[in-house]
Amino acid sequence: MSTLAEVLARETREGDLYDTLPDGRLRCFACGHCCPLPEGAVGVCKVRFNEGGRLRVPWGYVGGVQCDPIEKKPFFHAHPGALAYSFGMLGCDLHCSYCQNWVTSQALRDPQAVAPPLRTSPEDLVRDAVTQRARVMVSTYNEPLITSEWAVAVFKEARAAGLSTAYVSNGNGTPEVLEYLRPWVDLYKVDLKSFDDRHYRQLGGRIAPILDTIRRLHAMDIWVEIVTLLIPGFNDSREELSRLTEFIASVSPDIPWHVTAFHGDYKMTEPENTTAEMLLTAADIGRGNGLRFVYAGNLPGEVGDLEDTRCSQCHELLVGRYGYHVREYHVSSDGRCPSCHAAVPGRWSPRFDGQITSRPFIPGSRRFTILNSL
Ligand code: SF4
Repeated sequence: MSTLAEVLARETREGDLYDTLPDGRLRCFACGHCCPLPEGAVGVCKVRFNEGGRLRVPWGYVGGVQCDPIEKKPFFHAHPGALAYSFGMLGCDLHCSYCQNWVTSQALRDPQAVAPPLRTSPEDLVRDAVTQRARVMVSTYNEPLITSEWAVAVFKEARAAGLSTAYVSNGNGTPEVLEYLRPWVDLYKVDLKSFDDRHYRQLGGRIAPILDTIRRLHAMDIWVEIVTLLIPGFNDSREELSRLTEFIASVSPDIPWHVTAFHGDYKMTEPENTTAEMLLTAADIGRGNGLRFVYAGNLPGEVGDLEDTRCSQCHELLVGRYGYHVREYHVSSDGRCPSCHAAVPGRWSPRFDGQITSRPFIPGSRRFTILNSL
């Protein structure tokens, strides 16, 4: 039997996101590592490699699909209540010890992470999404930047079917990959994990490309929401949260910031779980620095009104939530507050059609075949 790495090496095609250096090596620019790859070398992500002077990239499979409420991604200012058809491939360019998607993201690094790839096509994925009545197609679960050629192929089909498209990403991008995505991505969630470059280096990255990605996405008019998983003792100092939220506000005070509760996962089980009080303190810091839309996640019902969207001008309730469940919806058909008529930043559907689900589920599709491995 083939190993997973051997199977995935076959499920590839030539990529778009690279050039050839004067010394013959390839430079991949799908993510901020910008790996220089001599013949036969594999990138930090383990899924892109130089074969015969051409960059081979993942193609033709998913590591998993799931139907999520869009509130789970989380997007709170984009089509509330929508079903987000979510797919991922395998691999990641970072190696966070607390990853909640480690089975797919670390599949080629960690022998414990076993996620059998499923063969599919962009057409079949989109057909399945439409059957499930999805409104948004989302590349998530692994790091989508490293599989951008595949995501764009899926998004082209999704757009043709009338769906919006989204990335759920660590934001470790490059100017080239963002230009490549620009015509095809509507919504982009960035995990801003810390505001300390030393912390980012522990996770296998650097902070500079992530901050640059956030600035560029906003300038490109792609709708951005930012999430920070609050980990006690790692990124929760007042000073770090203050600098982090000042940065977001400097890009735009209208960017929603979700501060979410940590619970022990993967290899990080030491820190205590984040409490509601910790989230409220962090949210106060964000609001104090000028952010207009601050949300506290993962502790439904324990964080006051920090699950709801309120008008930044008159504080009218616009969207009421409990966890992923949309309890109330009052945004007008043209995306305004019904009380003071201020425009609400985001991407709003002309009307709220109710919520298909507030719980994730796996579609019972027969469109996928398991690729043999191991
Ligand atoms: S996606 Fe990132 S980690 Fe992978 S080969 Fe390209 S630059 Fe390197």
